[in-house]
Amino acid sequence: MEIVPKQPTVKAPAQMFTGDAWYDVIALGESPARIRVNVVRFAPGARNAWHAHVNGQTLHVTEGRGLVQSRGGEIVEIRPGDTIYTPPGEWHWHGAHPDHFMAHLAMWEGSGEGQGPETAWGDLVTDEDYRAR
Ligand code: MN
Repeated sequence: MEIVPKQPTVKAPAQMFTGDAWYDVIALGESPARIRVNVVRFAPGARNAWHAHVNGQTLHVTEGRGLVQSRGGEIVEIRPGDTIYTPPGEWHWHGAHPDHFMAHLAMWEGSGEGQGPETAWGDLVTDEDYRAR
């Protein structure tokens, strides 16, 4: 057993996020485990870029009010207690509501050694698209 002290909070990179977001790494599995769990906190209006997870992703909203969209779908409002599952390869983004902070747990799996990136990143979500709701 290991009690892991809290690690410093990391600012989410501007190449992949619009606005201010921060994350804390909760779990990072040792091979052969590939578990990944982060807490992600978004300031109002912040969201990540379009992306797809090779092995899918589960989000669980813990605070505030957020938005999520899959490519070709509507923007959907998400609230504490909601769990959002994105299948492998489905393009989507997630973030805060324009007027509220939002925090979620993000749970996914790494792609495995020699398997390439676990997440494919695309364009930032434009203000026009973010406000299209
Ligand atoms: Mn995602």
